[in-house]
Amino acid sequence: MKKKSQMAIGGKIKKPKTKEEKQLAKQMKALQEQIKKQTKKQQDDCPHLLASNPLSDFPDMFQRASIAWHRFNDGVIRGVCQNCTRVFVPEDKDYEYWRKHHTMNRLSEAASTSEFKEGELNKIDPPVGLDALPDEEIFKLFNDLVEAKKLGKRLAAVQKMDSGKD
Ligand SMILES: [Zn+2]
Repeated sequence: MKKKSQMAIGGKIKKPKTKEEKQLAKQMKALQEQIKKQTKKQQDDCPHLLASNPLSDFPDMFQRASIAWHRFNDGVIRGVCQNCTRVFVPEDKDYEYWRKHHTMNRLSEAASTSEFKEGELNKIDPPVGLDALPDEEIFKLFNDLVEAKKLGKRLAAVQKMDSGKD
């Protein structure tokens, strides 16, 4: 636990040497504990509903949850309350309850497509590109491509001749 919180602060941790440093380290630790406790209290008190933070005048009329859900690369959907920053994971007892609760946010997905199975991908995307075109269209495009290539080659040849003159 001690290691984890040190890592969270990041970087190299210098061991306190002098009396002052030791005192400062102690104070920092106390402050950290206090912040942790405060955060925990806020999260325990938070109803995880929209407009439920102390600065809001009116609660959300639809009682929607203030939780943003996201499907991570590991396929697990986790949420975070936008009021109290509590993280919701499937291991939580109230996870199912909150997953079913209305929110304002749509589930967001990890940017990676690696979790898509091939069949799924086809289901989502209607066939686009060459497959969607009739054969004659594909043939025409193919001819255009060949012509363009020929034209490109001719142009290149002409340019070469031009530059050769100089
Ligand atoms: Zn909350």
